[in-house]
Amino acid sequence: MNSFEYKNGSLFAEQVKLADIAAVVGTPFYCYCQSEIIFHFNAMKQEFADLSPLIAYAMKANSNQAIISLLGNAGAGADIVSLGELERAVAAGIDPKKIVFSGVGKNEKEMMRALELGIHCFNLESVPELERLNDIAAKMNVIAPVSVRINPDVDAKTHTKISTGKFDNKFGIPYIEANAVFKKIKNSSHLKAIGIDMHIGSQIIDLAPFDEAISILASLFKSLNENGHELEHIDIGGGLGISHGKNDKSPDLKEYAKIVRSHIKPLNCKLIIEPGRWLVGNAGVLVTKVEYFKQGASKDFVIVNAAMNDLLRPALYEAHHDILPLSKPQDNAEQMKVDVVGPICESSDYLAQGQYLNPVKQDDLIAIMSAGAYGAAMAGTYNSRPLITEVLVFGDKFETIRERQTIADLIALDNVPAWI
Ligand SMILES: *Cc1c(COP(=O)(O)O)cnc(C)c1O
Repeated sequence: MNSFEYKNGSLFAEQVKLADIAAVVGTPFYCYCQSEIIFHFNAMKQEFADLSPLIAYAMKANSNQAIISLLGNAGAGADIVSLGELERAVAAGIDPKKIVFSGVGKNEKEMMRALELGIHCFNLESVPELERLNDIAAKMNVIAPVSVRINPDVDAKTHTKISTGKFDNKFGIPYIEANAVFKKIKNSSHLKAIGIDMHIGSQIIDLAPFDEAISILASLFKSLNENGHELEHIDIGGGLGISHGKNDKSPDLKEYAKIVRSHIKPLNCKLIIEPGRWLVGNAGVLVTKVEYFKQGASKDFVIVNAAMNDLLRPALYEAHHDILPLSKPQDNAEQMKVDVVGPICESSDYLAQGQYLNPVKQDDLIAIMSAGAYGAAMAGTYNSRPLITEVLVFGDKFETIRERQTIADLIALDNVPAWI
């Protein structure tokens, strides 16, 4: 499905002209297509129908309240990594029984609130975390349901900053220590092991690492249960990649499901999947305005009004995003090789490097494609740039789902001591 298409020479989001949204909310802004998000969710649900998994949306990809509510209403649970995400999920109406709690640094407050709400399980990542959770559950006089995140020492073959499944990453319990950790859980008065999980990385295109890692989890699951544990589920994490551009490969959902099924089906256990990017990434764009076209000595620069604080992926992960002008170029228009950069005062502030674009001029609007995941969610206010508007489109309707922050908002939380 592609919700962003040219019609009569203009780029549309579903049935809304992106330029019309820009005229109302100004630039830059994020725009998401509801139908595409739901299309992806339903595609995954159908593909895995025979395993009836819990699809726990990894909220960190896009944690706007509207997006969480949308996916929650469609039947998704949530994979959360903080107290903020827990409260957001609950505020969006997600049943705590459909929430799994990931992350290496869960604090006491987070554990207490999650226990109070009765989440599905804690995905434990270390022995000290296990001990803290047992202590807190004991004090609250409840039993904490837990899964152990297994580090399978598998290379996900993605960018190093989003690889999480090797022994030198901070995540999970090394698979060679799993037996000892499950024994420790069994001997803990207020923990009950109900599953094992993994998450080996993000933007994974090559499916072989999934095959290898899930196979390790499946054999662990089997041997643990043969040794008297009563595990109910395997959680295979997220990580399924998307295409961020015309030349990118993207993995095939059917192939992915086939690999998962081959390992999970024979075990007759419950399945949890934690997709983030795959559900929302291609359903969003960042629309920005060209401020200047600057000819440099060795390169040409398109200077736009969005920057690395709005979309960090290019600066942080050297990520590529295709860029389309909102007004369709002539079919035979020449292309120019440019860097697309923002106004921020450092050289890592780019949205594209050495990319071929159709010629653009001052005040033109362009769309940075595939920006629905890890875009707005990773935004900050560096250079005192307020967080930008987010808009949701549904058919021929659109609505702001996050107001643009004001400069007054930025100043308001600061305090100037009286001695200055
Ligand atoms: C980030 C994360 C995900 C989602 O990753 P995607 O690549 O967006 O699918 C799932 N599970 C855990 C534990 C994560 O940290």
